[in-house]
Amino acid sequence: MIIVPITGPSMEEATNQIVSSARHADLFELRIDLLSRPEVGMLIASTRKPLIATCRPVREGGRFEGREDERFDLLQQAIDAGARYVDLELDAWGPGRQRLDSRRRSQQWIVSHHVLDGPPGRVDALYATMKKTGAGILKFAYVADDAWEIHAALHFFALARKDRQRVIAIAMGEAGEASRVLYKVFGGWATFAGSEDGRQSAPGQLPASTMKRVFRSNTRTTRTKIFGLVGNPVGQSKGIYIHNPLYRRLGRDAIYCRFKIDDLTRFMKTFDGVLSGCSVTAPHKQAMMKFLASVDPLARTLGAVNTVVRRSRGYFGANTDARGALDAIEQRLRVSGRRFVVLGAGGAARAVAGEAVRRGARVYVANRTAQRAEGVARSLGVQWTALDNVASLEPEILVNATSVGMWPNIDATPLKEIPGTVRLAFDVIYNPAMTKFLKVAEGQGAITVTGVEMYARQAVEQIRLFTGRKPDAADVRHLFLAATRNP
Ligand code: NAP
Repeated sequence: MIIVPITGPSMEEATNQIVSSARHADLFELRIDLLSRPEVGMLIASTRKPLIATCRPVREGGRFEGREDERFDLLQQAIDAGARYVDLELDAWGPGRQRLDSRRRSQQWIVSHHVLDGPPGRVDALYATMKKTGAGILKFAYVADDAWEIHAALHFFALARKDRQRVIAIAMGEAGEASRVLYKVFGGWATFAGSEDGRQSAPGQLPASTMKRVFRSNTRTTRTKIFGLVGNPVGQSKGIYIHNPLYRRLGRDAIYCRFKIDDLTRFMKTFDGVLSGCSVTAPHKQAMMKFLASVDPLARTLGAVNTVVRRSRGYFGANTDARGALDAIEQRLRVSGRRFVVLGAGGAARAVAGEAVRRGARVYVANRTAQRAEGVARSLGVQWTALDNVASLEPEILVNATSVGMWPNIDATPLKEIPGTVRLAFDVIYNPAMTKFLKVAEGQGAITVTGVEMYARQAVEQIRLFTGRKPDAADVRHLFLAATRNP
């Protein structure tokens, strides 16, 4: 179930939140502590959906600053007005249950505990104490700064599954996003999502519409396979809008989410046996290599992977960026024997240059920082040069594999002039698709290939590795462009 908190703060805003979120919310949570005028009865009467009454004190991350008896009075009003559920903090459980009179049989209790300074250490003890209250639902939330810290929620979910206990466990913050998106996969009862006006009652809440339409979190089961993007940052990635609908079209019960990670070692330990595969982005493409039981030969040469899949003997790694880029180029022009200059010396440059070498091109690497160009060139057995020396190489194929020209700096280009010898220009950047670099090249009569073509091809191969089925490249392109248009 998806719970949408009603946060107001004005009564008008609270009413609008109920109306605009009604389509996606299974339950509302009335955050009495956040409302400027807590006219609880009126709000409860305004919806037919079941409702949780919560009046969170400051000590647990809420805004209520009054006395406990005043807080209980507000909760009692909500109970009398028909709130189906009441949330009581663990430290207020005894006095609260003594004081509050539920009257109605359908009344249910949630005992909650919030840790605001990182993941708690003793999850077993906490679970046992909460369970002892006899509350129908246990809710545990804490702040996570790195996705590996979801481990506390995973442990809480696991304890509850054994007991068939209804629970909500949430790692708050962007790094904990997967604990919300995957709540049903982990056996949780419900999770929280923000209202459609963009308000959140806690950090990391996604709009309920995203939870339902993009992730379909509420329809998942413990059998759903988990894939995701591993890196930092991951918030701007469009992968969730491409992988999730394509898994569905391919008939696979799988979900794709985002893992914001700094500590890859702890993440791989926490999610071992949980993750069926992942896309890997900066800064982990090289560091991921040490967690793999097997690697495809190209990825081994490049020393970097962007795709990891769990197989019976451990994780297998591949680099679909490299093939994606060269397949996109060779759709228009064969590279074998041609002078092929790659601008840049980062992950994308290394992938493009490495695969171009494999396909027989005469590759040169040019980069702002000469030392990095030299490093990439040496590892691939090719030559390097300075950016202002590129024209003298008379390139036939010129690749921008730097981030210069990417949104929002769309008027920037990596080279002042594009040499007249260039027959094909390719840009790894996909936002915008038609970069300044490509526009200039096109103006000079060169064939142009965009980063969207690379993205679509690498995604097709990645999804094939994840699901065993190949999606249609046109579908990938279409979903990608739609996601870029609607950030
Ligand atoms: P990276 O490892 O950080 O490398 C960035 C490169 O850009 C470095 O060579 C850097 O030069 C150069 N650079 C940055 N700012 C510059 C400037 N102002 N002037 C000159 N050179 C500059 O990044 P990456 O992972 O390779 O990604 C590069 C681009 O590829 C990004 O736009 C990314 O979105 C795109 N990409 C696209 C796809 C796709 O499917 N289409 C896949 C992967 C990546 P220094 O070494 O001198 O810093």
